[in-house]
Parts: sequence; structure tokens; C-alpha cells
Amino acid sequence: MQIVNDPFVTRRAESNGFPERFADEEGTCGSMHLKTHPALGWALSRRRFVTAAAAGVAAFATTTLLPDLALAAKDLPATRSLAVRSLHTGEEVQATYLRDGRLHAEGLQVLNHVLRDWRSGEVWEMDPKLFDLLYALRKGMDSKQPVELISGYRSPKTNASLASSSNGVAKRSLHMQGKATDIRLPERDLKALHKAALSLQAGGVGLYSKSGFLHVDTGRVRQWGA
Ligand SMILES: [Zn+2]
Repeated sequence: MQIVNDPFVTRRAESNGFPERFADEEGTCGSMHLKTHPALGWALSRRRFVTAAAAGVAAFATTTLLPDLALAAKDLPATRSLAVRSLHTGEEVQATYLRDGRLHAEGLQVLNHVLRDWRSGEVWEMDPKLFDLLYALRKGMDSKQPVELISGYRSPKTNASLASSSNGVAKRSLHMQGKATDIRLPERDLKALHKAALSLQAGGVGLYSKSGFLHVDTGRVRQWGA
């Protein structure tokens, strides 16, 4: 799979040069301040979206079956959609990423775009299992509201910058591999969301009560935070 000639689309690397087991062990996210500039963010992101989407059509010409997940046992439907609202850019999207059991290229592209590194504009090919995780969480919490996104993909540069200014940010964060996201659900208690995430046993779960969000990833099953 190749994504080329687009400054806003980063090709997914096969290896990030470090073993996953050392990545993102704990304390991944730190406390982050939300800066929301809805108008500006939206205008910029629309332009970027057009570029990224044009590249995406060629990049995702074929669809693949979603690999088996621990979540497969959760009785999820064969067609799955997600609604996500970025608290940093103000963008809100709704996309179908799985249709009749097959990954849906355009839907993935839309979600990858909203989960991009909003600081640098870089779009990453997120782990589709992460979308399943969010799907299952939203379903489990009986939420019809968009998932509120605090952080998705982070470029190495962005992560290094965050890590140097906060000791709560892991240098080898799974955010850099497109396998982690920091979220909350509107009108849903964070502690209840935390409990729901732990019950999925689908990866790492970090609770950041003071900052009001939950980190979830598709790495090893583990937990931290308070
Ligand atoms: Zn995180």
C-alpha cells in the first residue's frame, strides 16, 4: 500500500524502529490543554481534506477484511460507522469504515483525516482495530453522540515536543503508530467510560481524570492512570 505525493499523508511505516512491547508502557498522554479554533481549523482542514481524499482514492483501491479481533466476540454488526468530533479543530465527521465485513476505503480515509496530527497536519493510516474499539465503546455506553477526540495520531516530531514539555508523555507512544487515541464521550461519565474500556480487554487504557479524557490503544492489554 502506498500513499505518495501528498504532504499531508504520511505513508505508514512497516516498522517504527522499536519493539512495540517497549512502546507506550504507561503515562502516555500527560495533561493537555485543548485549543479550539473552530472556524480557522475547519477552513484549513477542508482544504487538506480535499487533497488527502484525492490521494486516498488511489491509495485504498482495494479493501481488506478486518483482521480477527478480541472484539469480534462482542457481536458487532458487519457494517460499522463512527462519528467523531475533534475538540482541537472543531471538525465533526461521520463515516462507515466497515461495510458488510470489509474495510471501506473512503470511510477509513475520513476517520484517518480527523484523527491526524492536528499540529502538523500529517495524516496517518490508523489501525482499524482502533475504530472497532471506539465503536464498541460508544455502543457499550449507549451513546449516539460523536466521540470527542483530544488526540489521535502524533508525528514523532509532535510527540517529542510534547514529551519534552510534559513528563506524562511517553517517548515511544502508540499515538505515533496510529494505535492510540485520547477521547471522551459527551454526556457520559468518564469513570463509566473507563470501566467500559477495561471490560473490552482490547488494549491499553489510561485514565486522565484531571484532564477529563481516556486514552485507549490497541497495544497490549494494560492500564494506568487515575
Ligand atoms: Zn494517549
